Amino acid sequence: MARINGFVGRRDFLKLAGLVGIASASFGGSLLWSKQQVAVADVYPVNPHQALKRLLDGNQRFLLQQRQYPDQSLERLRLLTKAQYPFASILGCADSRVPAEIIFDQGLGNLFVVRVAGNVASDMIIGSLEYSTAVLGSQLVVVLGHISCGAVVEAIKNEPHPGKINFVVEGIKPALAQVNLSTGNIYVNAVTANIKYQAEQLQKSSTILAKLISVGKLKIVSACYDINTGKVNIIK
Ligand SMILES: [Zn+2]
Repeated sequence: MARINGFVGRRDFLKLAGLVGIASASFGGSLLWSKQQVAVADVYPVNPHQALKRLLDGNQRFLLQQRQYPDQSLERLRLLTKAQYPFASILGCADSRVPAEIIFDQGLGNLFVVRVAGNVASDMIIGSLEYSTAVLGSQLVVVLGHISCGAVVEAIKNEPHPGKINFVVEGIKPALAQVNLSTGNIYVNAVTANIKYQAEQLQKSSTILAKLISVGKLKIVSACYDINTGKVNIIK
């Protein structure tokens, strides 16, 4: 399998996905990296352990108010014109208090972030993460929920919602069946259950992600961001 820095090239992504033969211009053009592109864009260590450490180190800087604002220059953007090598992918809540690049103190090209209310792993989200892992080479996906998640609160209420809000709420409800809502803080319990459930869904619903995990090229980690403190806690 042709790899660049442990990445799965586009051809192999298509093989993995069973799409060889219909491989034309999906995703808007060639995604195989030339040696020149690799040389131009700095390639970070991407194994899951290193990626997680890098995220948690950034969160620590955020907590200590010692952010370094790395990789946020126009020069950095220019280096990324031809290729991107996000070292981690984040499935986070769309909540305005949970911006991944800020709370992990990262910059341009570092994180591939998909955000949706309740960090629900819909097919659209899963497809995006298949792309960021199998094509762009992220070897870590963090499912990042947060304390006081309004989407989870709405799912607990179990009331009808207007418009398409129900799509979000219905995506969370199965997670609530997995938690005892009668003991402890039901909102915290439910947030934790939802994070774990969505992380499981990623693996269950995607043969591509499951395959990458099985060959040691991907780890999915659950984490909860405490909006009271700013700390990201890994869920075991
Ligand atoms: Zn939320």
